[in-house]
Amino acid sequence: MKALEEKILSDGEVLPGGVLKVGSFLNHHMDIKFLMEMGKDMADAFKGDSVTKILTVEASGIAFAVAVANYLGVPLTFAKKNKTSNVSSDTFSASVDSFTHGRTYEITVPKEYISENDRILIVDDFLACGNAIKGLCKIVSDAKATVVGAACAIEKGFQGGGDELRAAGLKIHSLAIVESMDNGKITFRQN
Ligand code: 5GP
Repeated sequence: MKALEEKILSDGEVLPGGVLKVGSFLNHHMDIKFLMEMGKDMADAFKGDSVTKILTVEASGIAFAVAVANYLGVPLTFAKKNKTSNVSSDTFSASVDSFTHGRTYEITVPKEYISENDRILIVDDFLACGNAIKGLCKIVSDAKATVVGAACAIEKGFQGGGDELRAAGLKIHSLAIVESMDNGKITFRQN
């Protein structure tokens, strides 16, 4: 998505350790009009896949996932990273190594929110090593539902997670694929 590449170049910030900060328009402070354009673009890529539900992970995936869910006309469930007292103990769960936080956390979804008949589109703001998507795929698999694919706003191609998941047969669509951020200069993969 050309407009997203331009927004990343104008408003994104390359941080040490291969982290791209896009909090000013995507996952902290949100440009809703632009977010909705991204959601529509992404929904178009999966409109033939009979998606019944979006699954994402809190917190930074939720905003983009809402935009995609809106255009696909389906409900959305998000996995929680922290156990809270009001979450049912009857949950599907997975361990996820966090690239940005350098720790492993447990993600959980109450069993009542995913059924065997669901055709699930996994959505996240970033795809780096692929751990978040793998964890969400495990939850869908434990629920005996179907993963139709993964939808990412920004993929960091140089971290390899997207290509590994594609090679394993998962349909992945990313609106922008950052190929390199060496010396703070962002370049994109050409389709
Ligand atoms: P993965 O599990 O694919 O290694 O990383 C994806 C998750 O880590 C996403 O849920 C995202 O929130 C976070 N993440 C990974 N790389 C970045 C980055 O460069 N910037 C931001 N803001 N989040 C990232």
